[in-house]
Amino acid sequence: DVNIKEIIEISLHNVTKHAKDKSIKIMVNCPDDVPAISTDKDKLIRIFVNLLTNAIKFTPEEGEVTVIVEDHEDYLQTSIKDNGIGILEEKRDKIFDKFYQVDSTATRKAGGTGLGLAIIKGIIDGQGGKIYLESETGKGSTFTFRLPKELKEDDFTEIEGT
Ligand code: ATP
Ligand code: MG
Repeated sequence: DVNIKEIIEISLHNVTKHAKDKSIKIMVNCPDDVPAISTDKDKLIRIFVNLLTNAIKFTPEEGEVTVIVEDHEDYLQTSIKDNGIGILEEKRDKIFDKFYQVDSTATRKAGGTGLGLAIIKGIIDGQGGKIYLESETGKGSTFTFRLPKELKEDDFTEIEGT
């Protein structure tokens, strides 16, 4: 089991240089008594680092990134909100596809491969969770993901002969 507050601290440590270089402020709002969730620590760090890296990358200097954790009955919900460039409505479904980048010009290509969101969507789906996106072009994006507090029996497949 992992404590999401601790995971956020480790993840922030990973992206802080990147944020400081752009004078981007990161704020976190997480309840102190947030329950532990049964998931893999490294996978959860990967989700946070990917979403935070994107938020910083696609937000201009002096921008703001906010992390909000909410404790719901069966799941924990985390939103990572930025006030960056936003994502055009017709591109919103595609960004979770492997190698898809909204701007894939030569200059832009230098920054990443377009795999980040595809990987973390795979992790979240694999844990019985969900990720979705709200965005307003030119104003910012909010990525919200939910992870169940307990993995349910149904999420496991029995392998014959074991
Ligand atoms: P990688 O994650 O492999 O380093 P990447 O960041 O380009 O590369 P993804 O994280 O999968 O790839 O994101 C896919 C695309 O979605 C990005 O290239 C960008 O166009 C768009 N995108 C992702 N997050 C944001 C965001 N917070 N604001 C605006 N656009 C975004
Ligand atoms: Mg990325």
